[in-house]
Amino acid sequence: MEIPIKQALALKTLPDAKDLAFGTLFTDHMFNMDYDPDNGWHYPRIEPYGAIPMDPSTMVLHYGQSIFEGLKAFKTPEDRIQLFRPEDNFTRFNRSAHRMCIPLFDEAFALDAAKELIRLDRRWVPSAPGTSLYIRPTIIAMDPFLGVRASYTYRFFIILSPVGAYYKEGFNPVKIWVTEKYVRAVPGGVGEVKTAGNYAASLFAGEEAHHKGYTQVLWLDGVERKYVEEVGSMNIFFVIDDEIITPSLSGSILSGITRDSVMALARKWGHPVTERRITIDEVMAAHEAGKLQECFGSGTAAVISPVGEIKYKDKQIKIGDGKVGSWARKFFDAITDIQYGHAEDTEGWIHPVD
Ligand SMILES: *Cc1c(COP(=O)(O)O)cnc(C)c1O
Repeated sequence: MEIPIKQALALKTLPDAKDLAFGTLFTDHMFNMDYDPDNGWHYPRIEPYGAIPMDPSTMVLHYGQSIFEGLKAFKTPEDRIQLFRPEDNFTRFNRSAHRMCIPLFDEAFALDAAKELIRLDRRWVPSAPGTSLYIRPTIIAMDPFLGVRASYTYRFFIILSPVGAYYKEGFNPVKIWVTEKYVRAVPGGVGEVKTAGNYAASLFAGEEAHHKGYTQVLWLDGVERKYVEEVGSMNIFFVIDDEIITPSLSGSILSGITRDSVMALARKWGHPVTERRITIDEVMAAHEAGKLQECFGSGTAAVISPVGEIKYKDKQIKIGDGKVGSWARKFFDAITDIQYGHAEDTEGWIHPVD
């Protein structure tokens, strides 16, 4: 399928690399495509970045039938642009579509569309250390209808946003708060899906954590409130007595591509990650016994986010003197070196754009 391009008449002024934050600025163009039952996915096009006019009764606004992805494009020292494991993002996007009753799309075509859009807006891919171009594919339900059912019509769009270095003040450990009161997902629910409602459902606990002086929430399982699931919107890892542990995918945990990359590297380095259920009591006991060496989150935005402190009930523990652990640093360096083309892509993770 050819993708027609309608160029923006006036191009925006590029921001200074030092002013880049996350998700505040958007490029000149976007990709759009529509779905209806008669035509399937049709009318793919690249056009100037702009509003999506919609009726106040549009279903996505009421019932949240909406899915998204998040991936990044990186500038290499040779001035090439490359993506990190984008096929995995579009495969996961279709898995999310299936679970949310959204019609499946052609993954190879969607990836081509994203690349075409990035090539058109290539001047927006920043090159300062740690910066990148964030890519946000999204699908929303478009029927103007107030009944609860799956929509018949959809909009698929991709927008691009230049983002600054996540660690402006250095690779700093965060403080996290374990909530026993709130849960983000339950077995049989949609915790493993990148769907809008999961993030709305997490806000209240996030605010409570902020009020208490913590950066993120550590989520426990929704049934027994005992097993560790995720941290904020990242997957979580512990290093206990030299064993690297991450919670197994239970159905209520998002299957992170960064999580999978950490596990692949660990395997390659001969120190495989154990995927298993792990209780918060085990983590606290390991600390008590002096065996909790590290804790870190993994996700596209931060890659690796070291955890320096955990608050659970009335106990507050400090991990590794609040300093960044050696595994966290090793995974962060190895993944970002591949992403930015500073190291050879031995895993087949890099997908060139140009
Ligand atoms: C996106 C996401 C992650 C991390 O996934 P990556 O593919 O590594 O970016 C983890 N948990 C939640 C809830 C997420 O939405």
